[in-house]
Order: sequence, then C-alpha cells, then structure tokens
Amino acid sequence: MPKIIIAVDGYSSCGKSTTAKGVASYLGYAYIDTGAMYRAVTLYFYTHHVSLTNPKEIVKALENIKIDFRRNPETGRNETYLNGLNVEDEIRKLYIANWVSEVSAVSEVRRAMVAQQQRMGKARGVVMDGRDIGTVVFPDAELKVFMTADPEIRAQRRQIELLAKGEMLDLAQILQNIRKRDYIDTTRADSPLKQAEGAIWVDTSFITLDEQIELVTHLADEKISELIRENNFKS
Ligand code: C5P
Repeated sequence: MPKIIIAVDGYSSCGKSTTAKGVASYLGYAYIDTGAMYRAVTLYFYTHHVSLTNPKEIVKALENIKIDFRRNPETGRNETYLNGLNVEDEIRKLYIANWVSEVSAVSEVRRAMVAQQQRMGKARGVVMDGRDIGTVVFPDAELKVFMTADPEIRAQRRQIELLAKGEMLDLAQILQNIRKRDYIDTTRADSPLKQAEGAIWVDTSFITLDEQIELVTHLADEKISELIRENNFKS
C-alpha cells in the first residue's frame, strides 16, 4: 500500500486538527499538529522574554528549543512537549493565541519549524495540519486540503472548545483574535496562508466534524487507489 502525505491547511478553528487526527487514525498514519509547534515556540519566547526584533537572540533561543509529541496512554491523545515538559494545555490558552501569529511570521522561526516538519514526514504516511504544509513544507503532498469557514462560526466553535478546558471567554474577544490571526497569517511576507496549487477547497461552516473526516478520508482512499492503479499500469 503506498504511503502518502496529506496536507491539511487553512484558517484557525475550521476543524483542521480534528479532521487530520481522524483521518490519521483511520489510515494508521502519524498526525502532526504544526500549529502546536509554533505555539510551543511562542510559549518559550514568552517565558524567556525573547525579542522579535533581535534575530540573533531568536536564533540562539531556537537552538535551545526541543519540541516533540508524546502519546498520553490515558487519553490516547498526542501531547506537545517543550524541552521535555508537557505544555499541551498551556499552549492552547488565549495569551499564546494572541501572540503566536507574530512569532510565526519570523523567518528564522519558520525555517527551524519547517526543517523539523520535513524530517518528521520524510517517511510519508503522515497527516500534517497547518498553514503552509501544501505550499512550503510538502509541496509534493499527494493530497492537499484547504479549509475555511465563516469567522463567526469559527469563533463560536473556539468558545465551546475553550469552555471545555475551563477558559470562559467573551465571543467578541475570540472573534477579534481569529480575525487578527487571519490577517497576519495571510499577509505575512514569509509563507503566507493561501490555497496551495491542487488543494481541494472545503468550507466547513455548515458541515459536522464527522462529515469533514468522512470527506477527507474518502479523498485519501481515492488518492491511494489511484496510485495503486498507476503502479499496476506501469508494471
Ligand atoms: O493551528 P493553530 O491555530 O494552532 O496555529 C496557531 C498559529 O500558528 C497560526 O495562527 C499561525 O500563525 C501559526 N502557524 C503557522 N504555520 C503553520 C501552523 C501554524 O504559521 N504551519
């Protein structure tokens, strides 16, 4: 069975990570949440007072950052570790969300994260979600999906998610964060968020998470069958 790379890019809170996780579990692939990596860098920069205007300081800080994902046997979830510490809950908080897009726009940060992501997906058989997977990290991904949804619907989804984690926030505050991140992510000079060539556009405003998973799973199955057929034709 050929192993492919599935790139799931798009705006925040469109259900990218739940979809990517669902598809990865269906295919028995690894799931890599690249947003978590940028969030972990942001947490490190925040706690170490790294200035975004000092490239030398940034490069030095990046040398001291080690990010990895470990499976929590109790929940079965993959959790983010920063220098050996579990930061999964901390990086989801609003103060990180409010700064992550500025940190992610820094070219030195992107270079370091992209290199690590390319190493992680080298053997293929991965589903990676983010903003630049289909455009920069794996432009040769066999399946690319680009997700979008109405910002107000995304804000409502995010509010429910945060509430489940005990963070009670005003809808307007969340919507403001989403709009700000959309703006920075799509207008930054280095690797802006945009639909990759060949990416399938999915508007998730009015479909459920199960339907999103089903749709991308179906696309992946089709792609894998196509590759098997092509190989058979060649031989
Ligand atoms: O996916 P998530 O919302 O957790 O991503 C947080 C932020 O990390 C995004 O708003 C974006 O600024 C940045 N990001 C990025 N490139 C990626 C993944 C995330 O710039 N591949």
